[in-house]
Amino acid sequence: MTHHLPTVAPFDMAIFGGTGDLAMRKLLPALFRRFVDDQIPPTSRIIGVARAELTDGEYRASVAEALQRALAGHAELLEHIPAFLERVCYRAVDATATAGWQDFATLMRSDDPERVRVFYLSTSPDIFVDICRHLREHNLHRGNSRVVIEKPIGHDLESARAINDAVGTVFEESQIYRIDHYLGKETVQNLLALRFANALLEPLWNAAHIDHVQITVAETVGVEQRGPYYDHSGALRDMLQNHMLQLLCMVAMEPPASLAPDTVRDEKLKVLRSLKPIDAGNAARLTVRGQYRAGASGGGAVPGYLNDLGRDGSRTETFVALKAEVGNWRWSGVPFYLRTGKRLPQRVSEIVVNFRAIPYSIFAEGSGTVQPNKLVLRLQPDEGVKLWLMAKYPGPGGLRLTCVPLDMSFADAFGVAQPDAYERLLLDVVRGNPTLFMPRDEVEAAWRWIDPILAAWQSSSDAPHGYAAGTWGPSASVALIERDGRTWHDDDND
Ligand code: NAP
Repeated sequence: MTHHLPTVAPFDMAIFGGTGDLAMRKLLPALFRRFVDDQIPPTSRIIGVARAELTDGEYRASVAEALQRALAGHAELLEHIPAFLERVCYRAVDATATAGWQDFATLMRSDDPERVRVFYLSTSPDIFVDICRHLREHNLHRGNSRVVIEKPIGHDLESARAINDAVGTVFEESQIYRIDHYLGKETVQNLLALRFANALLEPLWNAAHIDHVQITVAETVGVEQRGPYYDHSGALRDMLQNHMLQLLCMVAMEPPASLAPDTVRDEKLKVLRSLKPIDAGNAARLTVRGQYRAGASGGGAVPGYLNDLGRDGSRTETFVALKAEVGNWRWSGVPFYLRTGKRLPQRVSEIVVNFRAIPYSIFAEGSGTVQPNKLVLRLQPDEGVKLWLMAKYPGPGGLRLTCVPLDMSFADAFGVAQPDAYERLLLDVVRGNPTLFMPRDEVEAAWRWIDPILAAWQSSSDAPHGYAAGTWGPSASVALIERDGRTWHDDDND
């Protein structure tokens, strides 16, 4: 089944940090794929911006290399690279100085003034303010201009406010797109379809029928070269404050009246504001911090975090598990267990909605245990949905019960490759659709909930629990959920 993909209006997109990892690995390949699918009009321009003195030709050559790397296994797409590169150019600009800005501004103004202009800030947040200031000085912030800002948006509420204030002095809130690429993932958008385009689930989507929800974002990698950056962040800030709370909001929000951007975002904001506080009084009971030690990953021995970091004494967590609760009528008493970490056994992101047990069993004891139903929404890898149901094991030998999944892999069901989240999100910016981006108050509400947890950890003399690389985190994380008579979902054991 093929769907016509609508073309967006011609645009200019300047990528600040255009030579960096994110631009080369994600943004340019995403734009390229949309170009191949004819969604990007040929008159659009993509302008890489960074300090390195490169010619257009040199920049195009490095973009071509990055695309070849990103498209490994898709040789049929390589022939489109030259046409795409015709849309790409480069300007050397130092965000913190005046050099290069006039030239950049002249280039940006050489087109129709009504054309959509996107400024993607794929740089360290330290220079967002400088970039915005220069954009205003050159009058590039007006009209159909939009700015996209990447995480991290601050390291606490105060610093997030400072970034939002600074960007907000130049751009209107409606022009600011705070990106969380998890929201561009197909499964996350499919949550809207599953919940609100089916009559089946919504009547059950509450404390009367749902026992608890688990959200896991597990990585197999360690901190690699990002050690110094990561050490100032940690798993709570890097993953939970943004991606995982966004997922929690999508699961827990009330049905919005429509898909209008503010309507959906208002509902998510209400969830964040309903989260019960975790602070010094209960953090030890409701949160677990871990830090990976040496162990085995990917079939080989790997060093511990401190070794990767190159120094001792860090208390930064590379793993966090916590038990959150949304204090409202729909979710009262339903725990949301969240866990994320590095050097875990599997790279997997998933949401598991665990339904309540049946009230009474008619089956004989020897028939097997009746397991509660589970809905598993897999974000990566192999995006899809599994609904675990009880069924009779086939054949004679009495009525034996077994738990089997109704299994929908999106790739199999639709026969199309799943687009990368950035493909969707970048075109949403061009279209001016902010539904899948975070408004200021959402980012700040998330920090407002996270800050007391960080403060509680800081004031505690406890260090993070060690866990061997290649395991599911410290045993305290297992205890966190097992204390409540529940277990972490494990696809292999179902
Ligand atoms: P990166 O590889 O270090 O790239 C930084 C880019 O900024 C380079 O192109 C650099 O080029 C440019 N730059 C640095 N100082 C500049 C200045 N004064 N003026 C103009 N350009 C300057 O970083 P990254 O990994 O791409 O990450 C970019 C941002 O996205 C960061 O905030 C990061 O946290 C966020 N992010 C990254 C990822 C990812 O997968 N990489 C994922 C999510 C979020 P020059 O040195 O030549 O100027």
